[in-house]
Amino acid sequence: MAEQAVPRPVDLPSDLRHFIDGKPASSVDGATFPVADPVTNEVYGRVAAGDAADIDLAVAAAKRAFTDGPWPRLTARERAKILNKIADGIEVRAERLAELETFDTGLPITQARGQAHRAAENFRYFADVIVALHEEAYIVGDKQVNYAIRQPAGVAGLITPWNTPFMLETWKLAPSLASGCTVILKPAEWSPLSASLLPEIMAEAGVPDGVFNLVHGIGEQAGAALVAHPDVPRISFTGESGTGQIIMRTSAENLKEVSMELGGKSPCVVFADADFDRAVDAAVFGVFSLNGERCTASSRVLVQREIYDRFVEALAARAAAVKVGMPADADTEVGALIHPEHYARVLEYVEIGKREARLVAGGDRPAHLTSGNFLQPTVFADVRPDARIFQEEIFGPVVGVTPFDTEEEAIELANATKYGLAGYVWTKDLQRGHRVARAVQSGMVWINSHNVRDLRTPFGGIKASGVGQEGGVHSIDFYSDVRAIHVAVGDLHTPQFGKQG
Ligand code: NAD
Repeated sequence: MAEQAVPRPVDLPSDLRHFIDGKPASSVDGATFPVADPVTNEVYGRVAAGDAADIDLAVAAAKRAFTDGPWPRLTARERAKILNKIADGIEVRAERLAELETFDTGLPITQARGQAHRAAENFRYFADVIVALHEEAYIVGDKQVNYAIRQPAGVAGLITPWNTPFMLETWKLAPSLASGCTVILKPAEWSPLSASLLPEIMAEAGVPDGVFNLVHGIGEQAGAALVAHPDVPRISFTGESGTGQIIMRTSAENLKEVSMELGGKSPCVVFADADFDRAVDAAVFGVFSLNGERCTASSRVLVQREIYDRFVEALAARAAAVKVGMPADADTEVGALIHPEHYARVLEYVEIGKREARLVAGGDRPAHLTSGNFLQPTVFADVRPDARIFQEEIFGPVVGVTPFDTEEEAIELANATKYGLAGYVWTKDLQRGHRVARAVQSGMVWINSHNVRDLRTPFGGIKASGVGQEGGVHSIDFYSDVRAIHVAVGDLHTPQFGKQG
């Protein structure tokens, strides 16, 4: 037990079921799995364990809703109105969503509140996108008009991770529904709780039965069945790079289009001329927010030699002062890691780090938290590029610092991992900032800024961090089939084969 009493949310759902064709459903075979909170690690509920049979039912419902139902045929404005009502439903439940998310994942409550608002914003934003969407058209002299149309692709499978569950679920639901697809969401098994509010939010907003379906379950069972299903032409996946590879392999069988948002090991490059204090703030926030369980975490800090010792000292001091505590407390900055298995994995990396580099902060459980998946924010200095803690995604509050001398060396170090999700550059020399941003092999780079992202910008990784871009019109394109239509509007000459004599 945790030494501190952990109040459970009032009316905590303890029987989490699927939602198929507008109705809650148990698994066909009645199977369930337990789910625990990360502070007590005690089971608070049981979750329906979906399998191929449940996926079949959900896909059949989604296919019916797509083929016979109104959803894909609504005008953009009609769909947008419903998406805005979904956003309203999220906003009125924002506090409840944050409470459930914090309880289930261990994310600090203030950060979970931000995620709930971002989730509502996802729906509002994609409502705006589809209303404002325009298609391509080409006038070919006075003979032809060519135009392209987007049509919803069909049933979309959405598979999400546990780190910011509700926000990431809505990041996929909003554009897929906006595009006119019908969907099956498979949430992560360690964090199924907040998704249990989605059925009532969708129903209240007027989403027709069968358009939104939710199937819980273990990845290798429910997730794999969804990926293998021939009637699901799109799979949008966020999770580990290794899982992404498995999913792409299976998807190849049916030549599915996949969107892959995968792992990261993102560099934060700090030049000697940077605004020192702001760079420290950003480096600390960048790796310790969301408990360090953040795909875009700046988990490798590369610092120019002139300011290296001072920067390491500042980072270590700030890490030691970060408030680790009960996720539900408003002043907690780092909460509990999601699951004992993940906690053990992060601790193992801390032990590896102790052998590979110089520990300058953290490295252990906080003394005041004798149980639960808590870890002190941990900083390693003098991390070599061949170290495992430099190369491998830890996905916890652990950061490594490495010195560099020249711009060339900084770029080389930044690119010296298999990942390419995010990058951060700190310098007052803007020309250098742009140069380095272009040279860093990442899908997204921030210059003199921590990770704030306007929803209109493309989101995605390169190398082992992802395939394809999400965000804005990129997401709408992914959930659409594009057709080019060529119309003769004048006297278009057609060669007359067989008419020679
Ligand atoms: P994970 O790959 O273990 O699981 C993600 C989801 O995939 C879960 O729903 C899981 O049940 C499912 N799954 C697992 N095996 C499957 C299979 N064989 N077929 C189909 N589905 C399967 O990832 P995780 O541990 O939940 O999440 C952490 C990872 O996610 C980290 O690597 C992190 O960087 C990454 N992530 C990336 C982004 C991004 O946008 N790039 C965002 C958040 C998290």
